[in-house]
Amino acid sequence: MGLLHPAVRELLGEAPEIGEDLEELTVSLLQSLIRNACVNCGDGSCEEVTNIRTLAAFFDKYGIKYQVYHPPHRPNRPSLIAEYHGGTGIGPRVMLGPGHVDVVPANEKAWDVPPFEARLVGGEVWGRGSLDMLNTVAAQAVAFACLATSRLPMRGTLIFCAVSDEEAGGADGAGFLMNEPKLRDIFRADYCMTEFGGATLPDRYNRPSRTYYHVSGEKGTATINVVCKGRPGHGSLPKSCDNALVKAAEVVRCLANYWSPTIITPEWRNIMAASDAPWIVRTCLTSAWFAPAIIRLLLLLGHPLGSAAHASTRLTLSPNHLTGTHKSNVVPGTAVVEVDGRLMPGQDKAYLIRQLERALGRRRMASGDYEIRIRHFFPATTSPVDTPLWKAMEKAGRMLVDGTTFVNGLLTGATDSRFFRHHCGAIAYGTSLFQPELTLDKLMKSIHGDNERISVASLGISVQYFVLTILYMLGAAEEAVTFRKVKAGKDGSLGEKLYISLN
Ligand SMILES: [Zn+2]
Repeated sequence: MGLLHPAVRELLGEAPEIGEDLEELTVSLLQSLIRNACVNCGDGSCEEVTNIRTLAAFFDKYGIKYQVYHPPHRPNRPSLIAEYHGGTGIGPRVMLGPGHVDVVPANEKAWDVPPFEARLVGGEVWGRGSLDMLNTVAAQAVAFACLATSRLPMRGTLIFCAVSDEEAGGADGAGFLMNEPKLRDIFRADYCMTEFGGATLPDRYNRPSRTYYHVSGEKGTATINVVCKGRPGHGSLPKSCDNALVKAAEVVRCLANYWSPTIITPEWRNIMAASDAPWIVRTCLTSAWFAPAIIRLLLLLGHPLGSAAHASTRLTLSPNHLTGTHKSNVVPGTAVVEVDGRLMPGQDKAYLIRQLERALGRRRMASGDYEIRIRHFFPATTSPVDTPLWKAMEKAGRMLVDGTTFVNGLLTGATDSRFFRHHCGAIAYGTSLFQPELTLDKLMKSIHGDNERISVASLGISVQYFVLTILYMLGAAEEAVTFRKVKAGKDGSLGEKLYISLN
């Protein structure tokens, strides 16, 4: 049984209406979400509605109202929003979420336990989504229910939001909500707490530290087609043709070998400052001049810092898909290299094209046989950390795990927070709080990997982290003791008056 931290108990004033054992509630909700197996294969067929129904049933149990929206052609892919106004509604809109309820497929044969049975083994919940990110969805739903049923006065609006389709780009989930003006207004938030933070940075001996990594921004994304043109013909007379596939192979090699200019961001400096790597390594890795050489050395040694430093300090261009002909006796006249581009903050389409042209070389581009087509582009998004939410998160972290410090980084991947940052100007962090033993390395290996699992203790810490952060952020924590003494009845009237006088 998970004990409620004294700070949480104190600020809530009285035992939560949903029960004291937030940890157990989180475990049981997480298990239900895993068992629903909302696997997103990227073809629009994922039935996230099952997990949304589970969340709705959980809120129904406590009389919490919510709304559900889905794209017109996709009733199987809804998103859910619930709000708690603990006062006048004046103040920031703070979102627990967006939390995606879909998961990536699992290779059942490679797992030690079945991935969709959500078994409790060795104090851990095993299952696909247990770290990405049904754990956070469950913890945030329980935290929301705990706070909304407490009827404490709050300055602002607390929101819970669960969405579909993150694992395939979010077009039917957060992308849909943020691209529709009416829905954007309903789902808009000033602050978001979403996935990927809350693990610790390991020290140089790979031991857990008390420095917690949180995400304050993420790289932009681009999908580019490099179309290579040749002259088709019969495979039996290869020298009579101009094989486009051979040209495409050269493009692949050029892109794979290309290093775009080094950009040292404030986020990367923060990570290096908090890192336990030797001084000389940290110094070199924060110098645009020396970084490429030291990164090459780290890559040569197979050190994990090498690939992280490479991707965190530049635009990356990864040629990941190649199409030519499907017949072995035909020399293709056209071949297409699909490239996954990841952009640093401030880099636009023009920069991307310049870098692609540099990678492919002037001579090649001038030949007219190569064409660059940008199919998709979404810029990098970042949030500042000198905000009340960051302060509240740090305070909650210190309260729950002794000696913690927080550090913010730029995620090299993409999450739904980009839609909220880009379309409604939200300050969004990838955040949670796990046991210190869960290091960033371990988290990275587990997410989308085999044997994904989370300890029950981490779930207990994370649910209280969300409760405490919201109480510090919206509940005027210093005054919380006063709140408790004169806490209003269920209609909230007295609390509201008191709330106004305090603010
Ligand atoms: Zn995720």
